[in-house]
Amino acid sequence: METCESQARPRLYTRAFGCQMSAADVAEMSGALVERGYTLTSDLSEADAVLVGTCTVREHAEHRALSYIGRLRRWKRERPSGALIVAGCAAERLGPDIKRRFPHVDLVTGSKSVGEFPSLIDKVMPDHRLPRGGQVPEGRRSICASVTVMRGCDRSCSYCIVPSVRGREVYRPADEILAEVRRKAEAGAKEVTLLGQTVNSYRSSVSFADLLALVDSVAGIERIRFMSPHPLHLDGPMAHAMAECRKVAPALHLPAQSGSDRILGLMRRGYDRAAFLEKVSMVRRAVPGLTVTTDFLVGFPSETDEDFQSTLSLFEDMGAVSAYCFKYSPRASTPSAFLPDDVPRRVKEDRLARLNAFVAGRTAAYLDSLAGREVQVLTEEPGVGRAADGFKVRLVPPVPPVPPGRLVQAQVVGRTRNMLFGNLLRRNA
Ligand code: SAH
Ligand code: SF4
Repeated sequence: METCESQARPRLYTRAFGCQMSAADVAEMSGALVERGYTLTSDLSEADAVLVGTCTVREHAEHRALSYIGRLRRWKRERPSGALIVAGCAAERLGPDIKRRFPHVDLVTGSKSVGEFPSLIDKVMPDHRLPRGGQVPEGRRSICASVTVMRGCDRSCSYCIVPSVRGREVYRPADEILAEVRRKAEAGAKEVTLLGQTVNSYRSSVSFADLLALVDSVAGIERIRFMSPHPLHLDGPMAHAMAECRKVAPALHLPAQSGSDRILGLMRRGYDRAAFLEKVSMVRRAVPGLTVTTDFLVGFPSETDEDFQSTLSLFEDMGAVSAYCFKYSPRASTPSAFLPDDVPRRVKEDRLARLNAFVAGRTAAYLDSLAGREVQVLTEEPGVGRAADGFKVRLVPPVPPVPPGRLVQAQVVGRTRNMLFGNLLRRNA
């Protein structure tokens, strides 16, 4: 039931494009607005403010965000006093161009200034400074929380715009991270994903391996994930911590990008195929039952069919069960934007489709291999959750449904393309 107080409060609608970092930034910024009296709404038509998190990592992601901002013209026309805030990587890259192109935007704030967002809104939106004390509503998302541990990236992969739009690496102090994890655990979070562009380059008074152990000790948290580690920063202590920390999921998402040494060199990834495979093996040796997933980029300048075949074979050799696959697009002022974008669009699309089909085949084989096996499921909504490997599990029989936030054991009894059906065996807690 709605209270008079929530009716009086201005409502904020948020939309994030792109990766989990973008979603985490939007969550952090909306938290600042909630502290200033806003309440979140999932209905755009009743919003008094809209916060859009943009992404510029791929051309396609940027286009989607910009066309969404264009469509918000109608919302602004219907609610001229409403505030439209555009944040994130594309806002960082395009800056004042956004306001020139979309005069209905009220405030543009780039990805480098997430930390300064609260003082910025107090300055430019003083009317929106309301009595403090708002509570971030804890909905479905609260079972699985994200915590940003580092921002920016010190590497310089030739295709990647992230270092220029997010800046150099900055690490949050471990006590601040732990305080946030504890706060989220107290608010009901059972799973936490530690986020960073190269999350395992984290260092402060403690290493990334130590950070995993510290988060492992937080009461209430049952499962820990992290995203995305970089192969160069994957060391023995990190593999050891993954093995030793009970709550760290035996799952590694390690972006490979390509399986061809020549392309990896042009990409300036800092490793070759053999070194990459050795890192995967090291974690496999330490963590029994590890599942591995990855990212690939197809159609990088000069990529031949032979290079592409190496990518297919790397996916096979690393024993991965799934992958996010992307089609290369040149990004402004990155080193590879100066190379001819010479793989024809049709060829890029064909390679992407072949890779996705190959990955889907491996995912199907992996899910089949789980038939009859027992998996641990953390429910995120009634009767539906995720196994430790990250795959969705629908619990059967559905009635009565297991409430969200429970850790249960289930026996795999079937699957769809990328989801399992699990027969509920017992509750762990
Ligand atoms: N820090 C992570 C990746 C961050 S970007 C890493 O080092 O792997 C997320 C994904 O976007 C990348 O894994 C890559 O596959 C994709 N990507 C980055 N730049 C791209 C570009 N110019 N074109 C297409 N995909 C790109
Ligand atoms: Fe981009 Fe490379 Fe940094 Fe990842 S490691 S964010 S791909 S520059």
